[in-house]
Amino acid sequence: MVVREFRVKGVLVRSRVPGVDYSVNPYVGCLHGCRYCYVAGMPYVRTRCEEWGTFADAKVNAPELVAREIRRLSPGVLVIGVATDPYQPPEAEFRVTRGILEALADANAPERGIEVRVLTKSSLVLRDVDLLRALGAEVGLSVTTDSEEVRRIFEPGAPPIRERVEALRELKGAGLRTYTFVGPMLPMDPERLVEMLVGAVDRVVLDRLNYPWRVRDLYYAHGLGHALKEEFALDLARELVELFSRRGVPAGPTRRWAARLRRGFSGL
Ligand code: SF4
Repeated sequence: MVVREFRVKGVLVRSRVPGVDYSVNPYVGCLHGCRYCYVAGMPYVRTRCEEWGTFADAKVNAPELVAREIRRLSPGVLVIGVATDPYQPPEAEFRVTRGILEALADANAPERGIEVRVLTKSSLVLRDVDLLRALGAEVGLSVTTDSEEVRRIFEPGAPPIRERVEALRELKGAGLRTYTFVGPMLPMDPERLVEMLVGAVDRVVLDRLNYPWRVRDLYYAHGLGHALKEEFALDLARELVELFSRRGVPAGPTRRWAARLRRGFSGL
């Protein structure tokens, strides 16, 4: 794993994600190394001679830039962590995300009409509950499956599912608005996932696997097909084969999981 510091010229950017006006990414790269991560396919990552998941560059001057750049923003939704995880392991030392939250709080972001959201897979977010509360932020943790086995295949460097669900409960208990991003939906038992998350979140966002062919290639390149055969139930193998069977089209299991998740979370 390689972690470096570097300085950037700007950090607050307009976002093309629906419902999001601005984004800020405290790092380039992500040590969580999810196999399905769309960022791994971006030109600025592809041209590096480093494998996705093995590097993270900390934008150490991001907090001072946020303090300056926030003055030109009109009201809108600002998400921290669209193309990186803001609470991946180096954040414990570099505290870039914390610095950004401090800058937003100092600049009275909520009074300026800036609605702050954070999306992560890490319980390290609990460290910043004080600032997140001061900002009235909404905090999301991605939970893509109920199965630790599946999580280990697709999100090898990310924290376990249970840890994320517990973090959501703590955040909600601390009075914060919480959500979970079930994206991409991976092989799962939807009813079990609902059971795990009910009471921990105020809303749920679903997304499908957008690049099944790339994930499939990675999957086999890493010898995971063999691991799957050896370690996991045949049902899961069948679901994965079906998931990877069509290019860019939501495959059968995805539709089934989504319908059952929607039913399960309909009371939220
Ligand atoms: S945590 Fe998010 S940014 Fe990091 S590798 Fe996974 S999907 Fe990509």
